[in-house]
Amino acid sequence: MNTQETVYAIASGKGGVGKTTTTVNLGTALAGAGNRVVIVDVDLGMANLAGFVSLSPEDTTLHQVLAGEADVTEATYELADGIWAVPSGIGLDSYASVETENLREVVAELRDQFDYVLLDVGAGVSHETVLPLGLADAVLLVSTPEPASVQDAQKTCDLADRAGGTIAGVVLTRTHPSGDIDHEGIAEKLDLPLLVTIPEDPTVRESVYAGTPLVVHDPKSPASRAYRYLAARLVGEADPEDRPTFEGASESPARSESQPPQRDADGDDTEQGGASAASEDDVSAAISEIDADSETDGGQPRIDIPDAESDT
Ligand code: ADP
Ligand code: MG
Repeated sequence: MNTQETVYAIASGKGGVGKTTTTVNLGTALAGAGNRVVIVDVDLGMANLAGFVSLSPEDTTLHQVLAGEADVTEATYELADGIWAVPSGIGLDSYASVETENLREVVAELRDQFDYVLLDVGAGVSHETVLPLGLADAVLLVSTPEPASVQDAQKTCDLADRAGGTIAGVVLTRTHPSGDIDHEGIAEKLDLPLLVTIPEDPTVRESVYAGTPLVVHDPKSPASRAYRYLAARLVGEADPEDRPTFEGASESPARSESQPPQRDADGDDTEQGGASAASEDDVSAAISEIDADSETDGGQPRIDIPDAESDT
């Protein structure tokens, strides 16, 4: 992996496959390793990144920036140590005045200010989806193993080509390690390297209800371990041979099976057994914990990848 790449577009053909989850957790893992990271919601029409990190942008969002009404610094919010977010507006009124082309300047400015810029791209084939693929140094193609998702991922490959973008590889999400699906085969079909598989993991949902990135909410969960591996791989500190496979790992901890979440992440009711949003301090503390856990090597922050077998 080329460590000179600092701007990544997290993209998919089909929606609902785990792009925002990947953006938030990869970003938090990179920040936990000592990088200054900004995550940007470029899903302009269907923004939802803010909800994943308990951010309620009061006024300025990427919509105002792209409408030429604000500077990107005014729409950049600190989430915790080392990580900032640029949320998109949820109102259709502000979306109407957006000039998508202005994203070029925004990405250029953020590239100068941060070690890593992660663009959470919308699904589909519109201009606002295609443009970021060309602005990024590399695209992380997110797909589930479902045939419809893989088929749509192929379209995103074609779009990235047309936009002059480069796809670094596939992030295969919601995998079932004990199933009989050939994950490598899916990546081969797309003619791309398989960067990581993110196992289906009930703690992902729990973390959304808690409004805290999974890698902070439950650092030992299998999906957290997978996201830390992805971060390590992007910064050039993990090898393809070390990719976790999660064979034999428990996919469904008993506590989650006995207390299934009652609603979808995008349902109306976000109250989950009185779960409340974590404060910024909680998140900062948890990130430093990850930081403290990681070994240091010649002053370089390292990303620790605990065993899948560790108790959760
Ligand atoms: P996208 O941004 O591509 O639309 P999201 O990141 O919002 O997708 O994820 C869609 C849904 O899938 C969410 O409800 C999320 O909690 C769930 N999800 C994502 N990844 C996983 C996973 N590894 N295990 C279980 N659920 C997941
Ligand atoms: Mg999303």
